[in-house]
Amino acid sequence: MKLKKSKYLHNVETDCWVILEDDRTGEWIKIHKEWMDILDKFLIEELDEKEALNRFEDNEDKEYFEKLITLMKKKKFLIPVDEEEKAHIEQVYIAVTNNCNLKCKHCCYDASALNEKKCDLSTIEVKSIFDKVIGLSPDCIAISGGEPLVREDIIELLTYLRQQFQGKITLSSNAILITEKNVNAIYDLVDSFDISIDGVDEETCSRIRGKGVFDKVINIINMIKNIGDKRICLSMVDELNQIGIKNRYVSAGA
Ligand code: SF4
Repeated sequence: MKLKKSKYLHNVETDCWVILEDDRTGEWIKIHKEWMDILDKFLIEELDEKEALNRFEDNEDKEYFEKLITLMKKKKFLIPVDEEEKAHIEQVYIAVTNNCNLKCKHCCYDASALNEKKCDLSTIEVKSIFDKVIGLSPDCIAISGGEPLVREDIIELLTYLRQQFQGKITLSSNAILITEKNVNAIYDLVDSFDISIDGVDEETCSRIRGKGVFDKVINIINMIKNIGDKRICLSMVDELNQIGIKNRYVSAGA
């Protein structure tokens, strides 16, 4: 196989060493300059791996070079010449609805309350958006809204995503619509939860989200925690800074 260097690779050279680092992942290896020169020469000559290895008369050199190439391929420092490199995307948020069961004071999505519900994209349309996003190979897809759980087809959508996507799935939700009935299904379909709670107690939460929301959400979080130890992140608004900086979030693991 003919190889080329990843376009995300950069070199830092010292007297006799070269450090190769991948800008996307921060992974690096340090190799002797002489070996770097040999590798560069083979890449310029467009030799395939076998041809390059056959150039070595000394078995130890050959073995070392083979290990080096294997390592660089594993780290994606070297890729097939005809491979097109895609940018590394960590996370894509897909807002599957602009409707919400709450009416928070600060809502940066300007979500519509359920009594003024706006028309969502159809199930097929959302699935086709999933397909396009999956094609970009992100590490994680976060399903958000509005409130994603107001969609009647949310389990169908999450099931489809789980079947098609190998990466991580996060559910960004206010959690209110997670119930004893659907919690297990949702838990099985996602890798983590990103729950907005917007307060540290009933008083602070109710100023933003309305009365009774805080305890409800805490109970739901406990219900999720009773199933297993999947990651739950809580986000909240810094109320003091709402004027001027409306959407300032603080996240904490739970
Ligand atoms: S829960 Fe989120 S989407 Fe719904 S109104 Fe509050 S901030 Fe907006």
